Amino acid sequence: MAKIVCVLYDDPVDGYPTSYARDDIPKIVKYPDGQTAPTPQAIDFKPGELLGSVSGALGLRDFLEKSGHTLVVTSDKDGANSKLDQELHDAEIIISQPFWPAYMTAERIAKAPKLKMIITAGIGSDHTDLQAAMDRGITVTEVTYSNSNSVAEHVVMMILALVRNYIPSYNWVIKGGWNIADCVSRSYDLEGMHVGTVAAGRIGLRVLRLLKPFGVQLHYMDRHPLPEAVETELNLTHHSSLESLAKVCDVVTLNCPLHPETEHMVNADSLKNFKRGAYLINTARGKLCDTNAVVAALESGQLAGYAGDVWFPQPAPADHPWRTMPHHGMTPHISGTSLSAQARYAAGTREILECYFEGRPIRDEYLIVQDGRLAGVGAHSYSAGNTTAGSEDAAKFKH
Ligand code: NAD
Repeated sequence: MAKIVCVLYDDPVDGYPTSYARDDIPKIVKYPDGQTAPTPQAIDFKPGELLGSVSGALGLRDFLEKSGHTLVVTSDKDGANSKLDQELHDAEIIISQPFWPAYMTAERIAKAPKLKMIITAGIGSDHTDLQAAMDRGITVTEVTYSNSNSVAEHVVMMILALVRNYIPSYNWVIKGGWNIADCVSRSYDLEGMHVGTVAAGRIGLRVLRLLKPFGVQLHYMDRHPLPEAVETELNLTHHSSLESLAKVCDVVTLNCPLHPETEHMVNADSLKNFKRGAYLINTARGKLCDTNAVVAALESGQLAGYAGDVWFPQPAPADHPWRTMPHHGMTPHISGTSLSAQARYAAGTREILECYFEGRPIRDEYLIVQDGRLAGVGAHSYSAGNTTAGSEDAAKFKH
């Protein structure tokens, strides 16, 4: 019987919900490319419930405990002697969500001699040292596509919020004001602007499709160019570098995974290529950007706005400069953990566990690392190596 350690974010400050704003959520059976949504044999939760926090336990408690496994659920993941560290010595499977990642560094992997699989309940496995996992033969999986469309919706929301100056205008209402000139002196229409995505995978392509009706000019770069038919349908301009894309775009959105090739791709040098007054939206990973370079670009006016929900490390320390920089529209990491998304990635996590325990193959599209190498989506979208350096600073959130 296995020990599974599941690291989840804390319950709401007022306690685990006893009722919800809505009675149901739409059932998504297939994603836009035809991939089926998760197909576990059963689920022990009601879609629409809060599953990603400690009391929700990703809906896995009954399934695992009735099968005789041990499930440890904790939010205590950072700093010396965290619960996560205490449980590593005999853990076979570690599960966490990118919103509250269990940083599985080489040091932690070395402390877990029985570890066989690390599951990302969600998408994006950069919080695991993939090189160390490959070296140890540990399988790394994620629930591909489970929240890609959720994030794309968030990207569109954030682009509109920045360009139209929504958040400062909202704040004038809260303050009791009617300061129209203050609100509109930074407010524009998106129509006619050039919008570019760095990566046109599941999220990036969805963003392009959602934005098309706004009458914008669309651009993308990706190491795997899109089919010509899609380029024609969306009237896309393909770029082979960030420099080329940034030079012509009014809005740039980052939608690639974090891996050694993409770490800090937005930095003081690459920001010089952006149009003055560009908007940058990053719901992919905080470490794609150099933290201080983003702050400096907002302060100088090189960027007119920055929004996103991803930070490094996570949780972001109380003094993280992105909390207080000008013209930002940051949220905590929430875009991929709507209640709708949770139902899908909780079911996908269960599907992966069922396959693992029954010795059945895990879907190729859920694989990041297997048999000592990048596999499945990992081979398509990642490069080998490690991007967890500095993650120990997540402990500063507690202080
Ligand atoms: P995907 O695998 O479908 O797409 C990733 C794309 O990135 C691929 O098309 C790949 O070719 C491209 N890419 C990789 N390296 C590149 C590089 N160096 N230059 C240009 N393109 C490159 O994944 P997805 O579902 O679109 O998700 C993308 C990323 O978004 C995830 O890896 C994750 O980091 C992030 N994400 C964030 C949230 C959230 O809640 N904020 C949720 C889901 C995913």
